[in-house]
Amino acid sequence: MNGQETLRALVIRGSRNLFTVRLECSGEEMECRIKGKVLKQVTDYYNPLAPGDIVEIEGGQILGFEKRRNEFGRFNQKGNAQQILASNVDIVFCVTSFSSPPFRPRFIDRVLLQADAAGIPAAIICNKYDLAGEIDPDAGLDIEERLSDYERIGHPVFRLSAKTGEGLDKFKSFAAGKFSVLTGQSGVGKSSLLNIISPGLNIKTGAINEKYKRGVHTTTQGILFQVREGNVSTRFVDTPGIRRFALAGIPPEDIILHMKEFAPLAGKCSYGLSCSHISEPGCKLMEAVDAGIIHEDRYVSFLKIRQELSGNTGYQDND
Ligand code: GDP
Repeated sequence: MNGQETLRALVIRGSRNLFTVRLECSGEEMECRIKGKVLKQVTDYYNPLAPGDIVEIEGGQILGFEKRRNEFGRFNQKGNAQQILASNVDIVFCVTSFSSPPFRPRFIDRVLLQADAAGIPAAIICNKYDLAGEIDPDAGLDIEERLSDYERIGHPVFRLSAKTGEGLDKFKSFAAGKFSVLTGQSGVGKSSLLNIISPGLNIKTGAINEKYKRGVHTTTQGILFQVREGNVSTRFVDTPGIRRFALAGIPPEDIILHMKEFAPLAGKCSYGLSCSHISEPGCKLMEAVDAGIIHEDRYVSFLKIRQELSGNTGYQDND
């Protein structure tokens, strides 16, 4: 016995070895380093711990973390490794906007796929609904069509405006009591949304590249926020806005299993598991596209993501 008490704490944010944690016993926040700099449980990740992890602290140092229920991550291209954005989460929200920046279904498909592979339900927030009337009517109809399709296949969709407050109550009551991760492209309005949900947070908005650059913290880590209303505690991890969501840890042959409307068709083609889903007769995926069961654009996403994860090539667009 060394006489020091072991305490449980929740990771709020952190860089590679300095973490802000909240002690379970007192609610006090403190900064801690990992004892011996390396956690035994962690091998090839970009970051050893993420917001949502429950850690053991002794003498102000982190000894280890509790087994995770799940982990939501992405591929960190700079670090060339898988990065965990949050762990132990209930739901992933992919935040997009009707306009400014433009709506990007390919980004959504990547986030939905990564969440499904982690066994986490995912929903879509389409912010800046107040701008819906200002965009080209055909583009607006396309966005509506895509959003309805996501709802059809089973992902909740929230059309709202952080500016006017429209649609916000529905989202707030859905998120209440849950632990959510918000991920989206820079500028879609994640910070504005979080500020409305909890005005006390005062997260900087607009200054896209500045808000994560405080102190020793790097620009790539998520931050956990907690909002209490009555005895309901709602938690969010806000992740830094990113240009492109790179997938991590998903073998190309598993993509089909993690896209909701594709999964029931896996292995059902005439050529079974060897079907490339591009030209074969009796391909159930292509038949489903023709029958309207798979949206054509989701099929394009499927092909692009598979090509990218297979490492063959030229896939360099910003989707
Ligand atoms: P983040 O990078 O996703 O955190 O986005 P911010 O919350 O910083 O917002 C980016 C810009 O979009 C800011 O200028 C906000 O004022 C603006 N914005 C956020 N939400 C809305 C909205 O619902 N409607 C409109 N018109 N602008 C918004």
